[in-house]
Amino acid sequence: MTASAVHPGTLATGLTRRHALFAGFCLCCAPTLGRAAESFTMEEVGPGLFVRKGLIADATPENADAIANIGFLIGRNGVVVTESGGSLADGQWLRAEIVKRTDKPITHVVLTHVHPDHVFGAGAFVQDKPVFIGHAKLTEALSARGEFYRKRLIDLLGEDRTGPVVYPTLSVADTAEIDLGDRRLTFTAHGPAHTTSDLSMIDSGSGLLFPADLLFVNRIPSLDGSLKGWLAEIERLKAMGPARAVPGHGPVAVDLAPALADLSGYLKALRDGTRAAIAQDVPIDKAVTSVAADQRDKWALFDTYNGRNVTVAYQELEWE
Ligand SMILES: [Zn+2]
Repeated sequence: MTASAVHPGTLATGLTRRHALFAGFCLCCAPTLGRAAESFTMEEVGPGLFVRKGLIADATPENADAIANIGFLIGRNGVVVTESGGSLADGQWLRAEIVKRTDKPITHVVLTHVHPDHVFGAGAFVQDKPVFIGHAKLTEALSARGEFYRKRLIDLLGEDRTGPVVYPTLSVADTAEIDLGDRRLTFTAHGPAHTTSDLSMIDSGSGLLFPADLLFVNRIPSLDGSLKGWLAEIERLKAMGPARAVPGHGPVAVDLAPALADLSGYLKALRDGTRAAIAQDVPIDKAVTSVAADQRDKWALFDTYNGRNVTVAYQELEWE
């Protein structure tokens, strides 16, 4: 019995976890993603390139942190996981989707940055012994935060659905390229922006850019690196060539220019509003409720993240 041959819902109701494990299929993902999985589908957004749209939500026990856009691409020599998922359960769901479509080996897993919704699926692929690709600063970032994120996810999902912290085995300090025989992947390590470990990728097979969380669409961006740096990296992304991109959150593929314009609009409102608050001696606890308020209607989860973004921006801009 393989994961791909059985509908998870059937297993979830018909078998206990113990039965499922004895049958050779870890059922972790079935009840976990049960409700969410019904609405999850892989969309083929380019030749041999599949993406699952993440939920516009925060992690819950029901959604297993399946909130990022994740996926894979199939090359002549193997499969590359472009984003691993937000938990072991999410990664197992993704791995099952891969096995349904190809028997080629999973040779690479991209860890796009330190955030848990993008790296905790990696544990599902350890058995494949792939190369785990990450930014040169990712190991340091995971060392500092990985266990904290893991404990928080365990509180929410339980240990067996959370998975281990997986570290990169190939670090990218500037750029790197992988040749899959019929398509090439070009990686770029970015300066501090969304985080300090943002890695983007261009796939020659589809022509698509994978900026990960350097590009949020519809969901409010979260700032965890450098506001000024992010605005600079947006200019770099514009110059990279692709017209379309797979954002870290939002639709599975978008036109790059208007999506970057919306993102810039928010980040500039955050920058300019924060600078004005600092200039007028408005304290942080007041600034968090006023800065960028005119952006509220444009972004989902605005009230959850905007205040935090203002705090990060304030600390960066206070001493410029
Ligand atoms: Zn992120």
